[in-house]
Amino acid sequence: MTRRMTVQNKLAAGHRFFPHCGDGINIMEKRISIPVGIESFMARTMVCKKCGCYALTPEVRHAMDEWGRKFTKNIIEPQPVFTETAHQFAEKMSMQYGLKRVPFFRVLTAFYLSRIVNRDDFLELKNYYETHVSKRFLNEGARSKVSVPIRYLMYRKLQTFSEVWKIPHSKVIEEAVLFGLTVLSSEKENFKKLKTISESLHQYIADVAQAA
Ligand SMILES: [Zn+2]
Repeated sequence: MTRRMTVQNKLAAGHRFFPHCGDGINIMEKRISIPVGIESFMARTMVCKKCGCYALTPEVRHAMDEWGRKFTKNIIEPQPVFTETAHQFAEKMSMQYGLKRVPFFRVLTAFYLSRIVNRDDFLELKNYYETHVSKRFLNEGARSKVSVPIRYLMYRKLQTFSEVWKIPHSKVIEEAVLFGLTVLSSEKENFKKLKTISESLHQYIADVAQAA
């Protein structure tokens, strides 16, 4: 009974279980291995014996972040695909900031995931860019992939977006990069919102380039 109460209390404290695990009967504390890219993080947490899902509590998340920040190596290396036109434009833009193309792709991805996807008007922006990006960057030239090594903190952002929208990491990077390139190439367009975003993107890239 006491144990059951403990489980219920822990569940109430924001644990993430599927609805059918919520009665607490199949749930026990266990040491588990959580996959993080090609690495695994060992944690003690509440696990459902029935379906294997586990609670990613704020404590577990915090411990995982501490562990992940210490990693100096890359933990995933997605391979997004871009057309020749997109590659060339990215090359031109990255050179303006003194960045190489791959780090530039990472900056555009970071900007997208930290400044764009949480906006209230995200869907409007996504819709706008999707109609424009196809004209500019998707239909011209051969497609080729590029390896983008990713470290822990960006992995966490990619992973969250990838889970919400159910698309692989490489597709998230493609979407983020194409959004960034569209913004950078749309400066003369008469969409006020985009102008503001473009200014903040320029500043963001400049800050990163300066720190690099
Ligand atoms: Zn379950």
